[in-house]
Amino acid sequence: MMHKAKKRVFVGLVGMSLLILTALAAAGWYLVRTGSRAAWWGLLVLLSGIIGFLIYVGLGLLGLLVSLATGRTVPFLSRAQDTAAFALLPLALHLGAILGVDKDRIRASFIEVNNQLFRQKEKRVQPQELLILAPVCLQNADCRQKVTNDVRQCRRCGRCNIGGLLKLADKYGVNLAVATGGTKARQLIRDFAPQVVIAIACERDLVSGLQDARQITVGAIANQRPQGPCFNTQVDLERVEGAVKASLAGIVEGAG
Ligand code: SF4
Repeated sequence: MMHKAKKRVFVGLVGMSLLILTALAAAGWYLVRTGSRAAWWGLLVLLSGIIGFLIYVGLGLLGLLVSLATGRTVPFLSRAQDTAAFALLPLALHLGAILGVDKDRIRASFIEVNNQLFRQKEKRVQPQELLILAPVCLQNADCRQKVTNDVRQCRRCGRCNIGGLLKLADKYGVNLAVATGGTKARQLIRDFAPQVVIAIACERDLVSGLQDARQITVGAIANQRPQGPCFNTQVDLERVEGAVKASLAGIVEGAG
């Protein structure tokens, strides 16, 4: 129920953004009807581009709504719905700021939409093709182990979730890496070249990572921050395990 409400924020803002673009296109059309011949041609070209974009994104939004409502992706709208979600996200964030909607709420909503599409893709890979990407803020702040260089330096002492993630990585034979920031995360994705990434981070970093890694299937899990941002954060290990199991070939259970 909570997840449904979260998704509605993003989809609602995207719908409003489309309405605004449509109003702008209508204003342009009015100018064409009243302006000179040169303005007419210039605006006609511009309008054709805007209308083409609106139709494509509108179909994408339709695909997104059908996907969210039925839990099934319309195959020929799959690419358009991804484009609609990513192209209209900045617009949704700006509109949300004007309307006073918290940015993290919009980002969390976008992440829920992404994760539903992630589950619907039902992409199954071999363990070595899956990477769990964790942020360094999950590591206990007092721990001196250099887990960002080599996660296997973790002694699994139980003071933070890095040990639990390492246990999961060993159990399923998947890759695990700890990133110090966005640049390092991008480098790790280049190095491991995974087909599927299970990314853990705050909402802001997750959304930015999702935008950067659109060519890869990414399941996003927001961390918990009981001691504030970027400090001794935590993650729901059952959700991570659910997402891993849902992505591995030969394992039938669904994502958490
Ligand atoms: S579980 Fe690993 S990373 Fe976390 S505090 Fe213990 S040794 Fe350090």
